Amino acid sequence: MKTKITIETEAKEINRHYLLVECPMCKKSNHSKFNKIHQHGSNNNLDNRIEHRGGHCVNYNTHFIIHITDNTKRS
Ligand SMILES: [Zn+2]
Repeated sequence: MKTKITIETEAKEINRHYLLVECPMCKKSNHSKFNKIHQHGSNNNLDNRIEHRGGHCVNYNTHFIIHITDNTKRS
């Protein structure tokens, strides 16, 4: 079992279907220097809040604490 990594971060974008979070662990591809964006369901809720979600990382066991704030773009 991989060690669980907790990541606290701000959501980049939210809409009625999903929220987008940039992952500090995953790269876009093997040769990319850009970080991957993970998508989580938003429960049709655009309010500022904190969401706890299991990470979608393939190679890491992550838990995300996602802050949805005034900086999070509504799309
Ligand atoms: Zn990841």
